[in-house]
Amino acid sequence: MLRCIECGREYPEDEVRYRCECGGLLEAVIELDNVENVFDGRNVSLWKYRGFIPVERRVSLDEGGTPLYRLENLQKELGMRELYVKNEGANPTGSFKDRGMTVGVSKALELGMDKVICASTGNTSASLAAYAAKAGIKAYVLVPSGKIALGKLAQAIVYGAKVVPVRGNFDDALSVVVKASAELGVYMLNSINPFRLEGQKTIAFEIYDQLGFVPDNIVLPVGNAGNISAIWKGFKELHAAGFIDKLPRMIGIQAEGASPLARAWKGEKEFVPEKNPETIATAIRIGNPANWRKAWMAAEESGGLFESVSDGEILQAQRLLASKEGIFVEPASASSLAGLIKLRKIGILDSDESYVLITTGHGLKDPNIIVENFELPEPIEPTLEAFKGVL
Ligand SMILES: [Zn+2]
Repeated sequence: MLRCIECGREYPEDEVRYRCECGGLLEAVIELDNVENVFDGRNVSLWKYRGFIPVERRVSLDEGGTPLYRLENLQKELGMRELYVKNEGANPTGSFKDRGMTVGVSKALELGMDKVICASTGNTSASLAAYAAKAGIKAYVLVPSGKIALGKLAQAIVYGAKVVPVRGNFDDALSVVVKASAELGVYMLNSINPFRLEGQKTIAFEIYDQLGFVPDNIVLPVGNAGNISAIWKGFKELHAAGFIDKLPRMIGIQAEGASPLARAWKGEKEFVPEKNPETIATAIRIGNPANWRKAWMAAEESGGLFESVSDGEILQAQRLLASKEGIFVEPASASSLAGLIKLRKIGILDSDESYVLITTGHGLKDPNIIVENFELPEPIEPTLEAFKGVL
């Protein structure tokens, strides 16, 4: 059953529907009475938690089961007791989006749809294209023209999606997708699709499964705001099922140039979309997050908050994570670490608590951002002497 988060109206899951009649976002309601307690720390993967996932079909590329690393070097450097990162770049197409797409594309087949569509800053299109290929259905992806990282574009093309650049930003592309899904009979798999979030919530399950406890804080990048909403839903379901007795604080980090939630949180508490979002972190370059209501509730209910970080802080954090811990993530992902560092400086965070950072996409998705800011030295002669000269 799908339920509206605004008015509570309910809809069956076997009809194609993205929003309530009232315009509110929909949420899948999971029957938790009989879900199995599978949280034993072993064989962690998305479909291990199928009791929580409201689809029967399964289009899978073995997503989930991503590593959860203890950041031993960084936690020492930052003076924190317990710091982890859940590296979602280790998913099949290199981002957390695969969690939503394995469920979303499975749902598309259940609904009898043979065409799927999304607007994307890059990762979503790459992921949708891969899962549509696996399912043998057609994918259309609309991307903001000229504002998509090269690696992600390459993925969408090679997986065989129809890639359509749109003049404008992500929000403009999404408005076309919404109309197309209403009128052309294609199934929309943007994150207002409630089944996407049902896959993404498994990040919460895996964190609990891997750690064996619930961390005090989850810190993650916020773009379209689906992931923070989904992870919070996951923890709430674990709680409602009686498997855990505490909930983490949800801390959402945005890029300064695309930070409507952080601005509202720190200011008038009134959400105003950003007309011209701008940041090097293209994956979160979103001015009007579709799931902002759910995300706001996640921060509010969990006692969390929203903060924003500058592009400079993001790039610095990206270097830090790679050079101190061996984890290369794309800029948007690094905003979680940048946010943690900033909040620590301001003195908001308790260094005795435990923190899990979510990094959402692989660094190789957007290598240009590193290479363009780095100049290779002049080549040396192929001799030991010459090599000694540069040591
Ligand atoms: Zn409603």
